[in-house]
Amino acid sequence: MPIDKQVLIIGAGPVGLTLAVDLGRRGIACTLVERNEAPQFLPKMERCNARTMEIFRRMGLVEKVREAGLRSDIPMDVFVILSMAEPPLLHMPYPSIDEARARIRACNDGTQPLEPYQLISQYTLEPLLKAEADRLPSVKVRYGCEFLSLHQDVAGVSATIRSSDGQTETLAGAYLVGCDGGSSRVRKSLGIALHGEGNLLELRQALFRCDELFDKIPIGEGPGHGRHYHVADGQATFLIMQDSTRHFTLHSVVESDEDMKAMFESTISVPVDYEMLSCAPWRQNLLLADRARTRASRRGRGPPCRTDGRARHEYRRWRCDRFILETCRNACRLGRAKPFGFL
Ligand SMILES: Cc1cc2nc3c(=O)[nH]c(=O)nc-3n(C[C@H](O)[C@H](O)[C@H](O)COP(=O)(O)OP(=O)(O)OC[C@H]3O[C@@H](n4cnc5c(N)ncnc54)[C@H](O)[C@@H]3O)c2cc1C
Repeated sequence: MPIDKQVLIIGAGPVGLTLAVDLGRRGIACTLVERNEAPQFLPKMERCNARTMEIFRRMGLVEKVREAGLRSDIPMDVFVILSMAEPPLLHMPYPSIDEARARIRACNDGTQPLEPYQLISQYTLEPLLKAEADRLPSVKVRYGCEFLSLHQDVAGVSATIRSSDGQTETLAGAYLVGCDGGSSRVRKSLGIALHGEGNLLELRQALFRCDELFDKIPIGEGPGHGRHYHVADGQATFLIMQDSTRHFTLHSVVESDEDMKAMFESTISVPVDYEMLSCAPWRQNLLLADRARTRASRRGRGPPCRTDGRARHEYRRWRCDRFILETCRNACRLGRAKPFGFL
């Protein structure tokens, strides 16, 4: 089987998509394989910090990301509350993008980032990055294809994938990068273990559509003056405003999906029309992969396979920013590396 010099990327979350766009812009051929048929409307990450926005600026995407994300005049204040009907127990102010930009302009001592953060929901960011990847001739984007297994030797890497019609095929490349999330099959195929504490807490996360809440939130100094509300209850409840200001995610330890509606109503404590769009359980884990890459031969020669993003750090606080930063560093290295050279 001839090995072409492409990079195989498994998983089209924000990390895999960013890597594909970054490599594609450098003219490096890559194929991105994603098991879902299309980007999903599911809330996961929702904030790009300054370093990620600097990377998107370098990639020429910063304005597109800002246009798609939360308005620049809305602050990011965090409140600890009992309910929204009562005065907050704690108020942590965070600047809006406009305010953060003004601070950056006023400071010239090198301590400020070039770009402020941007709130943009993962379900908004993924289609945006996919559209960029689709535009690049050196990137093949293949949704509806599940990665099954890999084989590596000193000459290259091959991956077996199955498309949604049940057909399997083998793709060949010089490198393979696993960006396939927390239960990464790439990581497992490479025998890379996760260490740390697993299953710390099981919560439910529900996505609500509510057009009125942003203007009616009875807390803070005006509409939308909060983004993140932690409820001081025994169920680890918290509410997060998403980028549209019309969608909110609620996390809580409750028995059933139906209980999430009651929890939403008691948390916001104002009568509003709303719809629960989705609800699913998730677990908090504090796990880290013991290594990120493997090579085909004992002497360290041959094309490496590696894991990136959530496939490597199974912990929510290792936010997408960190993953995107790491994966862009890797893109730089892949860009510099000669075929079959070292990362
Ligand atoms: C409930 C929840 C809430 C979260 N909230 C936040 C938050 O508020 N802020 C924040 O920064 N982060 C949050 N996170 C973490 C955030 O999800 C991660 O930071 C981010 O998704 C990591 O991106 P990724 O591209 O590495 O992985 P993912 O987004 O998990 O993407 C992995 C992709 O790989 C695909 N895939 C998996 N297996 C295969 C296979 N075998 N073949 C082909 N494709 C495959 C998946 O379908 C998926 O599209 C949250 C996570 C969860 C679960």
